[in-house]
Amino acid sequence: MLIGVPKEIKNHEYRVGLTPESVAELVGHGHDVLIETQAGAGIGASDSAYSDAGARIAEDSDEVFERAEMVIKVKEPLAVERAKLREGQILFTYLHLAPDPEQTRDLVDSGAICIAYETVTDDRGGLPLLKPMSQVAGRMSIQSGAAALEKSHGGLGVLLGGVPGVAPGKVVVIGGGVVGFNAAQMAVGLHADVTILDRSPVALERLETHFGNSAKVIYSTGATLEDEVKRADLVVGAVLVPGAAAPKLVSRELIAEMKPGAVVVDVAIDQGGCFATSRPTTHDDPTFIVEGVVHYCVANMPGAVAKTSTYALNNATLPHAISIANRGWKGALAHDPCLAMGLNVAMGHVTYEAVAEQLSYPH
Ligand code: NAD
Repeated sequence: MLIGVPKEIKNHEYRVGLTPESVAELVGHGHDVLIETQAGAGIGASDSAYSDAGARIAEDSDEVFERAEMVIKVKEPLAVERAKLREGQILFTYLHLAPDPEQTRDLVDSGAICIAYETVTDDRGGLPLLKPMSQVAGRMSIQSGAAALEKSHGGLGVLLGGVPGVAPGKVVVIGGGVVGFNAAQMAVGLHADVTILDRSPVALERLETHFGNSAKVIYSTGATLEDEVKRADLVVGAVLVPGAAAPKLVSRELIAEMKPGAVVVDVAIDQGGCFATSRPTTHDDPTFIVEGVVHYCVANMPGAVAKTSTYALNNATLPHAISIANRGWKGALAHDPCLAMGLNVAMGHVTYEAVAEQLSYPH
């Protein structure tokens, strides 16, 4: 199969659909890869790294879209890219169609076969192609929070790990799923004083088993949350209620009761955020201060560490890309019901029930 990788064109998107190592794997399976010139620049992968891996370099994205049987990307195609899709062409990327009627209409009109990373499942119903980005965001939340705690960024001037003779910073993680678990791992690694709040008995047990004495694991109620947040130097918001906006667990009044210069990192901002005072920010201007508390609310945190994120994403997407290339999309989806869950639009129809319902397409 001829697989095409265009350069990402969304503002500040530095990731790329395939790493040179992934290209080599696909080529090893007998496929051809055509990649747009400079597509890997954002992760430090040159055109020659891709040619060495066996790819051919395309002059522009028109050539990629025109010739590829399968297009592999990271972000959803923008309108100019959607206009280049054709009937029967396979598109494998993040799509997030439910809140995006325009994109959905264009994909339906294109007749392309659109397989979305975010709805591919694993055999336990998890979302393995979303998980790597949650791992990245969780780990980054402590790095970004630690920087925001520095005086020059408006923070308290607290070093999370403390030093011998000086107490460490207090980190509170609200929500102990993928993001929260990874945030807690980083905070524990820095020798901070770490507390994780969750409501799910399964999550509480997993956290307790993993962290033992190195972090406190507490059932999240209004009262426990208030007590912990008031005393925190850094609070990470990492809750998710599937299919719903994030619950506003921390009110403006509670933010006002935090220490001046404390930091909140609202990772759940892409679902509306779990602090009442949050609003989405960008990597160009990631923080703002409300009631004396520094807020970090970047909606696409993994974009800042494009190289790590691209490799993490490829680890999860590559086996599926190889399967689609080897078997064709029909064969690959028939072979793997988890991959079949990724099919969102095919040959003029919305095939993913939740998207069809949300946007009133027949299903
Ligand atoms: P997850 O489902 O693995 O974990 C969410 C956890 O929140 C679960 O353990 C759940 O029990 C817990 N929870 C739900 N309600 C709660 C409450 N009231 N109190 C305490 N805990 C509660 O989800 P995840 O993958 O960790 O993602 C968390 C959020 O981070 C999502 O909104 C996701 O979209 C977002 N995210 C953001 C970025 C970014 O760049 N900003 C990147 C990746 C993920």
